[in-house]
Amino acid sequence: MTVRPMMNRDSQFFWDGTAAGELRIQVCNACGAKRFPPGPACPDCGALDRGHLATEGRGTVFSYVVHRHPPVPGREMPIVIALIELDEGVRMVGEVVDVADDEIEIGMPLRVDYRRVDDELTLPIWRLDTPRSSAARRPKEGG
Ligand code: ZN
Repeated sequence: MTVRPMMNRDSQFFWDGTAAGELRIQVCNACGAKRFPPGPACPDCGALDRGHLATEGRGTVFSYVVHRHPPVPGREMPIVIALIELDEGVRMVGEVVDVADDEIEIGMPLRVDYRRVDDELTLPIWRLDTPRSSAARRPKEGG
């Protein structure tokens, strides 16, 4: 069982993107501002003229939570959920796989992958990426 995300006119391009292996974000056709989550109007200039672009699908952990309770049917606990800051400058929430709950850390580089649920839904998931530059990684806090 998967909790199905909300799909509507404003987010359809996003789900069409994940189904096609693209991580898409909205872009304002008036001022060029990139944004996520999608919405009808630009928060910067208020324009309704909007489009989207495919991101590089890479980012870093901005913050994270480890979900231990309550259990999610059909899923092994814990689940690592991160707020990922994309290279394009927007942030989105996603599940991190293949990274243990005691290994996830702020600044960790991630790249997107896709989990096909069914014909209508493909979820973006995140995996550990190779470090890109030393400047992009923050020093580990504590231990
Ligand atoms: Zn705008």
